[in-house]
Formats: sequence, structure tokens, C-alpha cells
Amino acid sequence: MLRFRRLAVPAAVTAGGWVAWFMVVRLRAHHVPVSLIAACALAVFANVMVAVRSLIEGACAVTHRCPASGCAFRVRLTNPDAAENRRWQEAATAHPTHAQTWRH
Ligand SMILES: [Zn+2]
Repeated sequence: MLRFRRLAVPAAVTAGGWVAWFMVVRLRAHHVPVSLIAACALAVFANVMVAVRSLIEGACAVTHRCPASGCAFRVRLTNPDAAENRRWQEAATAHPTHAQTWRH
């Protein structure tokens, strides 16, 4: 899992670069001004990169939820060791106030 997580940034940059490049090629075909293409490409690159990185980090994260019915408390950890994982699992089980979810 750690090895997969190390690939998060290179994979995110690669995906963002490919999507931005695809958009640049499409906009150049429609004779869009270069400054506008550059602004759009940077925005698309940044957003795709952050989205891909968030997806990979989310896939590698460990989440501990409170077992109480209706409680929305949860702890999300990225790359915890065994002791830290166990400590946060206990903290999620025995936190002082249970946060109720709003249901209509
Ligand atoms: Zn709770």
C-alpha cells in the first residue's frame, strides 16, 4: 500500500498533464488566444492533479468510525503504524460526545 501511495504524486502529475495537453490541442484547433489557453491549461492541470491525488490518498487511507448508532464521528489516517492505528481505533470507539447525524 505504501508503494502504491508513493505513486500518487507522479500519477497525479501525469494525469493532469495529459488532460491539460488534450485540452490545449482542442483549443488550438479553434484558434483560442494563447493566454486564454495557458490559463485554462493551468487550471485543468491543477484540478485534475489534485483530484487524482485525493482519490489515491483516499484509497490508501484507513477510516475508523464510532460504533454507536447514528454517530457520525470518524477518524481518517494515512499511513499509520500498528500502534497509532490501534490508538485511533480506540479513540473513535470511546470519544466523549457522540455527534448525531441529521436525518429528515
Ligand atoms: Zn460516537
